[in-house]
Amino acid sequence: MLEIKDMSIHYGRIQAIDGLSITVEEGEVVTLIGANGAGKTSTMRAVAGLLSLSHGSILLEGEDITKLKGHRRVQRGISLAPEGRGIFPAMTVMENLDMGAYGRRDKAGIKEDLDRVFDLFPRIKERLNQKGGTMSGGEQQMLAIGRALMSRPRILLLDEPSMGLAPQFIRQVFTIIRQVNEQGTTVLLVEQNANQALALADRAYVLETGQITNAGTGQEMLANPAIKEAYLGVA
Ligand code: ATP
Repeated sequence: MLEIKDMSIHYGRIQAIDGLSITVEEGEVVTLIGANGAGKTSTMRAVAGLLSLSHGSILLEGEDITKLKGHRRVQRGISLAPEGRGIFPAMTVMENLDMGAYGRRDKAGIKEDLDRVFDLFPRIKERLNQKGGTMSGGEQQMLAIGRALMSRPRILLLDEPSMGLAPQFIRQVFTIIRQVNEQGTTVLLVEQNANQALALADRAYVLETGQITNAGTGQEMLANPAIKEAYLGVA
């Protein structure tokens, strides 16, 4: 479904991504794990069309979308829930959700998706008139995921959705990712929480200083001694 081919990204003279290639098949959950600064966020922003490549290409269902603007990629079914508090702080929760459905005209479908978001995140439903910026960190994280779902993506890009969350919310976020995937959305997930991400993922890639250094199924990665030592906090 999604193919990144030999991608490089530079920030001025700094090379953040160096010849990265990954694929995500329809229906999969694929996770990208890596240390701070490895290039995970850069990869997600490039797929979403928020960052240009200095080399390589991005294909969606075989079609080259490397030069396509971000909002056009949303129309094609790619949606990013950004890292941290990537919501509109001065807008209400409801307005944030409306922004996620921007450009859609299928009122019935939008209503369905709104109900799905309310179902997944009851807290959001209770706070529709609250300004996004006054929601707690965890609530903003949920709103960012909910907003991303409002474009009814075929592929959902989640950049560290569990960041800064208390353990019970982390479990909840992983449960929600599984539910969203079971409902038919393909997922590309970036996570520091490698244990839970690998347990959920069909396949995983390890990113180190801008390059893929390991790949396999989630289960293979969980059992790999080098991965355990570097990313799973067990020697
Ligand atoms: P983290 O887990 O800490 O969020 P990451 O894997 O998401 O890290 P990126 O944010 O993609 O990593 O950063 C990759 C590299 O690119 C880092 O060395 C970072 O300092 C650099 N970088 C990112 N954004 C910029 C920028 N706007 N200008 C210069 N360098 C940048």
